[in-house]
Amino acid sequence: MSTEHHAIVGAGLVGGLLGLILAQRGFQVTIYERRSDPRIGKTLEGRSINLALSDRGWKALEIAGVADKVREIALPVLGRRMHDLSGNETFQKYGVEGQCIYSVSRSGLNAILIEAAESHPLVKVKFDHVSTGYEIVKDGVVVNFKNEKAILHDRVFGTDGVFSVIREKMTHTDRFDFSQRYLPHGYKEIAMTPTEDGDFRMANNGLHIWPRGQFMFMALPNPGGSFTCTLFAPFEGEESFENIKSDSDVIDFFERHFPDAISHLPNLLEDWNSNPVSSLCTVKCFPWNIKSRVALVGDAAHAIVPFFGQGMNAGFEDCSLIAELLDSQLPSSEEDWLTLLDKYTRLRKPAGDAILDLALHNYIVMRDKTSDATFLLQKKIEAKIATTHPDRWKPLYSLVTFSHIPYQDALARGEMQQAIMNEIMSSPNIESSWAKSSNEIVSRAISLLNEYEADATKIARPSPLLDTNV
Ligand SMILES: Cc1cc2nc3c(=O)[nH]c(=O)nc-3n(C[C@H](O)[C@H](O)[C@H](O)COP(=O)(O)OP(=O)(O)OC[C@H]3O[C@@H](n4cnc5c(N)ncnc54)[C@H](O)[C@@H]3O)c2cc1C
Repeated sequence: MSTEHHAIVGAGLVGGLLGLILAQRGFQVTIYERRSDPRIGKTLEGRSINLALSDRGWKALEIAGVADKVREIALPVLGRRMHDLSGNETFQKYGVEGQCIYSVSRSGLNAILIEAAESHPLVKVKFDHVSTGYEIVKDGVVVNFKNEKAILHDRVFGTDGVFSVIREKMTHTDRFDFSQRYLPHGYKEIAMTPTEDGDFRMANNGLHIWPRGQFMFMALPNPGGSFTCTLFAPFEGEESFENIKSDSDVIDFFERHFPDAISHLPNLLEDWNSNPVSSLCTVKCFPWNIKSRVALVGDAAHAIVPFFGQGMNAGFEDCSLIAELLDSQLPSSEEDWLTLLDKYTRLRKPAGDAILDLALHNYIVMRDKTSDATFLLQKKIEAKIATTHPDRWKPLYSLVTFSHIPYQDALARGEMQQAIMNEIMSSPNIESSWAKSSNEIVSRAISLLNEYEADATKIARPSPLLDTNV
């Protein structure tokens, strides 16, 4: 056991996991959380009730030995179920056989992580501790609190989310970069309760999406028969939250845009009137550590938008990397920690930037492109290329969701494949030629891939993939 005692500020999803990973490697850890213990009384407030957990997240949960416990509360989600304006539903599988994402309850997952951390003899969790920042001193770092005495630790990890106070303090450090951006779109959650018999009101193996251009409605199933539904829409403008004022506006909006959903939403008005419109904020910063004493992990380092279902998964992947770095050489001095944390920043910062771009791009894909005939044809062609050449072509969604390659490599590969698809899709009469000569089109895509791999400068700029102007 090490004599070092680390502080973690924030017992959200990432804080509990990181605490466990550090303790399993012999470090004493105290996790400070501003909220009261969420296992007592109310569930977590304010944010999505359920989350999509995918391969990157599972890997970290396996490393920490809690994956089996999480599996007990996870519901498999195999693909997207798209609803058009006439109420027709189409299913698009996310991956190949056996690949899926999982819906888990945020509070259930948080409770598992906190309990697992707390049951480790080297971890203490202190609720009702609101940190106000830190001071680096000669022998360590002093963590400050509102209404509590400051406490000296060897290191502090800021896992205190998008509005991190640890990061806020870091912004006072020379050459620390920071930017924050709000989307012009917000979201409101509506619960779809189970039927009177306790059944799901819609197919429970998919993420339901009603894409409508500038806005979309979504429903993710929960174990137990309910769905958590979310309307993502602009704050302002013709079809926007500001223009849905009265109960009749709400009904009118849903009847016009999501006519097949409304009969499944018995609580629509009640939830509309009681749930807030929440905003979506992104954060970039650099570096993610100050010397050997302070580091940011999870949303505190890289807050993104939820449209790729990757925010938590990315935070968990930070934890996997920290575990791997600790396992490759357990630090025993401040120099060792500095090497480790510098390496962590260097390896993860490009990943954080890439997943933010990918998530912004996926908002446009989800709300706009998933109902576009050309986009759907492109997806069909890509699926055929991927099936006939599984070692050469991986759909971008799979690279992000079902692989562990760095997000920036997934982004680069996605750009290359999109550049190729742009060439394929610009062939005259692609719709009819695809039906007649799909094998030739697949061969052409693979030969273009060979060319692009040999010379990546062929990729046209600006990015053929990214249009993040939401
Ligand atoms: C609508 C929505 C849907 C989402 N869906 C998905 C999804 O499907 N899949 C996915 O992977 N991600 C999703 N995300 C992203 C995911 O919620 C975050 O990436 C994840 O919660 C980040 O975990 P974290 O522990 O870094 O931060 P948080 O979960 O925000 O936890 C931070 C913790 O720090 C505590 N804290 C804050 N300030 C202080 C302080 N001063 N002192 C002490 N404690 C403090 C907070 O109380 C909180 O407990 C979604 C996000 C939103 C908004």
